[in-house]
Amino acid sequence: QWHRVSDLVQSVTNATEAILNAKHTLIVNIPEEARLYGSYKELYSAFSNLIVNAIKYSPDGGDITIKWESSEFNGVFSVKDSGLGIDPRYIPRLTERFFRVDKGRGSKTGGTGLGLAIVKHVLLHHDAKLQIRSEPGQGSTFSCHFPASRTRTDNIPAITSHNEIPSNAQE
Ligand code: ATP
Ligand code: MG
Repeated sequence: QWHRVSDLVQSVTNATEAILNAKHTLIVNIPEEARLYGSYKELYSAFSNLIVNAIKYSPDGGDITIKWESSEFNGVFSVKDSGLGIDPRYIPRLTERFFRVDKGRGSKTGGTGLGLAIVKHVLLHHDAKLQIRSEPGQGSTFSCHFPASRTRTDNIPAITSHNEIPSNAQE
């Protein structure tokens, strides 16, 4: 099933309590034409986990940038936060089930450590890869790289092109 990426993201941001209650600035930059092939439920849960994490692990008032970028080779969905970042030695372990950095910390960052394991599983189902980049003290970016075969750009033709009178019809 093809989904409009902007619709998917909009339904996540409109229906997830943690996102609606967040005191962050969400900057969403997704072209209307971008389409992605896959399971709506699974993609929804992957995108929602990444966005909720960005909120959970960055301070109130921080910017969160949600983007879609595509090329002839792939389509990339990314979520960038301006949080504390992640120690590089933990990055390879983040998608392990129940793995959490700083388990002992306050209740604001409570969780079970399953979110990124779900993301990894969903991406595996969609021939996609998760890339995690983090600059300790600056923030983190989680990007999902989908193969070109699962992405599409619908170029909406200009309306005038349908109504134009062929030049030979006037003769
Ligand atoms: P939940 O099951 O509710 O999602 P969780 O958020 O702890 O719990 P994951 O989403 O799997 O679990 O994340 C695992 C760990 O990775 C987190 O506990 C946190 O330490 C770290 N982490 C995830 N996203 C970020 C982020 N954007 N910035 C900093 N650390 C992060
Ligand atoms: Mg999580």
